[in-house]
Order: sequence, then C-alpha cells, then structure tokens
Amino acid sequence: MLDYGFTEEQTAIRELAREIAEKELRPVAAKYDVSGEFPWPVVRKMAEVDLFRTFIPEEYEGIAGSTPTMNLVLVTEELSRACGGIALALAGTALGTMPILLSGSEEQKKRFLPDIAAGKRLAAFALTEPEAGSDAAGVRTTALKSGDHYVLNGTKQWITNGGEAEIYTVIALTNPSKGPRGASFFIVEKDTPGFTFGKKEDKMGIRASATRELHFEDCRVPAENLIGREGTGFITAMRTFDASRPGVGAQALGMAQGALDLALAYSCERRQFGSPISSFQGLRFMLADMATKVEAARALIYATSRHIDAQPKERPTIYSAMSKLFASDVAVSVALDALQVFGGYGYMRDYPIEKYVRDAKITQIYEGTNQIQREEIGKIMVGEQISKGGRK
Ligand SMILES: Cc1cc2nc3c(=O)[nH]c(=O)nc-3n(C[C@H](O)[C@H](O)[C@H](O)COP(=O)(O)OP(=O)(O)OC[C@H]3O[C@@H](n4cnc5c(N)ncnc54)[C@H](O)[C@@H]3O)c2cc1C
Repeated sequence: MLDYGFTEEQTAIRELAREIAEKELRPVAAKYDVSGEFPWPVVRKMAEVDLFRTFIPEEYEGIAGSTPTMNLVLVTEELSRACGGIALALAGTALGTMPILLSGSEEQKKRFLPDIAAGKRLAAFALTEPEAGSDAAGVRTTALKSGDHYVLNGTKQWITNGGEAEIYTVIALTNPSKGPRGASFFIVEKDTPGFTFGKKEDKMGIRASATRELHFEDCRVPAENLIGREGTGFITAMRTFDASRPGVGAQALGMAQGALDLALAYSCERRQFGSPISSFQGLRFMLADMATKVEAARALIYATSRHIDAQPKERPTIYSAMSKLFASDVAVSVALDALQVFGGYGYMRDYPIEKYVRDAKITQIYEGTNQIQREEIGKIMVGEQISKGGRK
C-alpha cells in the first residue's frame, strides 16, 4: 500500500480493526449471511476493543482526536474487507450519531454519546420513507408540537440497524406547510410509546445487517430531543451526508479489497493448462485493473477524509459524493471481476466470493444512489462555473 502518512494513532486503529476483522468477523461472515441474524456477539467484541469510540470526541468518552472521519473510514474499510454486513452495525451507528455530533446540544451529546462510544447502545439514521427515497425532501412524517413534547406520526423505510439500535435520529416535518424548510431532526429512543418496528427485510446482500421499517403513531418525544432549531432538519441531513459518504466509500473500498485478496490468492492456486491461472496474461491484466481501481478509490477517500477533518470553510459535498460514487462503482466491478477469476466456483455459494458481489451492490444505492451523486457533483460544478460568470 502507498504511504498515506498516517499518525501513530491511525496506524494503531487500522491494525486493531484489521485484527478484529480477521479474528471475529471473517470466521462467522458466511454463517450470518445465511441466517440473516443480527451479529450481537461480534458487535460486543467490536465494542470491547473500543472501535465505537474511534469517531466520538474525547469529551464524550471517545478517542477520535482531531481525525474522526479518517478513523471511521479506516475502521469501516478493515471491517468491510472481512464482512460488509457485520461492518454496518458500526457504520450505521456512526451515521445515526452524526446529526447529534454535528447539530446536537451539549446536553444531548453528554446524554447520548458516551453510551454510543462504549458500544452499549447502537444508533440509526431515519430519513427514507415509502414515498421519499431519492427525493428526500418529500418526507411526510410529521412532528407537531404539543406542550413540552412533539407528537410523531409516519413511517420510515429500510432503516439500517432498525429494531436493534436504541437511539434513532429521525427527520420529520414540524411545519408541514413549509415543506423541507419545515423539517427538523429528533432523537427518538427505542422504548418510546407509539414507536414500533415493521418486519425485518430479507435482502440479497449485507444480510447480517438489520433493515426495518419504523412506525410512529402518536409517538410523544420530549421537546428537549429536538436536534438544533426547528426547520434545520435538512441542513443537518445534508451535513450528515457530507461527513458520512466517505464512510460508504470505505465500505465499498473494503469489500473491493477483500474480493481482490481472494481473487489474487485463488489465481495463484488454481491450475489449468498445466499452469496457475495467474500465469495467463488475460487474467493478470484483470488483476492489474482491479488493483489499480482499488488504490485509486483509497487515495480519493483518504484525501477527502483528511480534507473533512481539517474542517474546511466550504462544504466538502462534491468530494464526499465523488468518494462514495467512485468507490461503490469500483466495488461492484471489482467484486464481479473477482467472481470471474474464480470461474464456475465463483458462482457457487460454497465459495466466499459471490457474497462480495451481493454485498457490494448496496453501496451504489444507499445514502443517495449513484445517479443522485452524479447529479449533485454535476450541479455543484455547473453552479460554480455560472457563479464565475461562465454562462453567456
Ligand atoms: C439495505 C438498505 C439500507 C438502507 N438504510 C437506510 C438508512 O439507514 N436510513 C435511511 O434513511 N435510508 C436508508 N436506505 C434507503 C436508501 O437511502 C434509498 O433506498 C435510496 O436513497 C434510494 O431511494 P429509493 O430506493 O426510494 O429509490 P428511488 O428514489 O425510487 O429511485 C429509483 C431509481 O431512480 C433513480 N432516480 C431517482 N431520482 C433520480 C434523478 N433525479 N435523476 C436520476 N435518477 C434518479 C435512482 O437513482 C434509482 O435508480 C436504505 C436502503 C437499503 C436498500
């Protein structure tokens, strides 16, 4: 790997995540893929070695230092290399925690972050609804003020860690007549009356990750659980995506690297025509292209993470979107090529490679599909050009 100039702490975090991935995730990845159970024993191991602390500041019992984004990316990449599904328990928690980290009050941070840092309580982020996917501004869940509470009504769909997490950051309309400008974020705890879960989804990949509907029926949430001010929900959501998309890129990167590792090893073992298949130029070219794409994705994600951790004045939206877009396209193409290297064995469930294809696909879909990432990148580019006076 290239020298990316990691600090001692980052190197230690990376090595620890790799050790846990190899010792605790890889041996059980196939088992959880088949059963679709939530991997609580593995999540507890991840918590025991403090992996959940890596993206939380020291004031709230974390160990993030000044590089929470890079830490999260390194941990997510290493865990996803062994199992993209299990890794999501942590990555989904980080996503659910972002609105609190970015826009929460000091009181909210003190109340919720230490338990998340300890891995005692998982978090989840709830934006998507049956009628509001790519068009996130179309959310219909309402949160109407009633005395010192807000009353939530509506349904959130396909929420990662749904049913397993205890802390949910949920966007809802506090002023429906204002549309997206009337949206606000709330912290909703699992045992709140009126908050229930739908069935667990049966997915093609990342099957160790729980995905469920959330139902709110006259669910009374204390007013102190409002994140930021009323009407700032979409700003918080957009800032969350700025911070979290390199993490989706890291999931994709880890899966791509994991698939490449297996393909390279297999190509040196499998013999045809009296030679290892790795001796054939057609196959070596494939491996070379796969490795080049993986390293390019890594360089973009790390550079973006470093940029975000330096707290730039301007929003890093374009680079976050590029990281997610590029790495997820790489993950799908590298996983498919890795399967090709395995030939017919790659198509068999007895071999670990087809799982990478199924797992990688989701990274092109969630946290904004890749069409939406391209749309955002293009919009920013054209907007900047116009503001420079480029339109005649
Ligand atoms: C396993 C899983 C986990 C998820 N976890 C979470 C979670 O934790 N929290 C959460 O809030 N959400 C979550 N989601 C939801 C996810 O973010 C959405 O599925 C995603 O944003 C796309 O929305 P949609 O599925 O409704 O697709 P749609 O918006 O219906 O899009 C359908 C197709 O049309 C394309 N399309 C739509 N609009 C445009 C456009 N303007 N230009 C070009 N193409 C367009 C899309 O790219 C896509 O190909 C999860 C989804 C899945 C499958």
